Amino acid sequence: MIALEAYNLSKTYRDRGKQIQAVRDVSLTIKPGEVLAFLGPNGAGKTTTIKMIAGLIRPDSGFVKIAGSDPHRDPCALKLLGAVLEGNRNVYWRLSPEENLEYFGMLRGLDQRQAKRYGRSLLERFGLMDKRRSPVQALSRGMQQKLAIAVALVHQPQLLLLDEPTLGLDVEATENVKALVREIAEEGRAILLTTHQLDIAEQLSDRVAIIQAGEIIAEEPTRELIRQFSGSAYTIELE
Ligand code: ATP
Repeated sequence: MIALEAYNLSKTYRDRGKQIQAVRDVSLTIKPGEVLAFLGPNGAGKTTTIKMIAGLIRPDSGFVKIAGSDPHRDPCALKLLGAVLEGNRNVYWRLSPEENLEYFGMLRGLDQRQAKRYGRSLLERFGLMDKRRSPVQALSRGMQQKLAIAVALVHQPQLLLLDEPTLGLDVEATENVKALVREIAEEGRAILLTTHQLDIAEQLSDRVAIIQAGEIIAEEPTRELIRQFSGSAYTIELE
């Protein structure tokens, strides 16, 4: 089973009479256990693509299938998906990590006991037990990001979408999040992460798709792509 199949996605925004083609004919597939890095400079169309995959923006054309179901037609597809978009704003800042996990677990269809149990195992695994009762706003950015990923995983989705998962984190928190991403993939979940940093793509992904001005210009196994691009002008252009 393919975890994600996105086929020929296109999206044009209409903004004060102007048309902006953000994404053109983007196709991506990800297998269970695979990490695909979606790499491109600011404004390339990464967020628009990931939002179409998450069912938040309807594509003008093309389709998305998550483990076979279309999030734009079948609400059940959303249960197969976890997402951390727009930084870590998928958590409530005045609630504790424990409360967030329980609340979002129940929202995603778990009963209270399951939500508590899965929530607790994620808190343990993500090193958040000490802070489980503190308000999220009192946690470090790295801990908030780990919690955001935990919340996205509480209903055990097959596909995880991460928009710039290490952006703005310090070195230690970045290492922590990178280790978690690898572990989550090893459990057999498919991961699509966006980044504008070649080194993050290199360290975390099995395959890289490069997007520029709304179009995929290359898609390769990461090792192959790094060999081609290392030290080239493209690296500089992305930074
Ligand atoms: P960034 O890392 O800066 O978010 P990105 O690769 O994720 O960049 P998008 O956010 O998808 O790129 O933006 C792609 C293009 O679409 C850009 O030109 C952007 O200005 C434009 N765009 C994005 N959202 C909207 C919107 N809601 N209305 C109009 N134009 C938009």
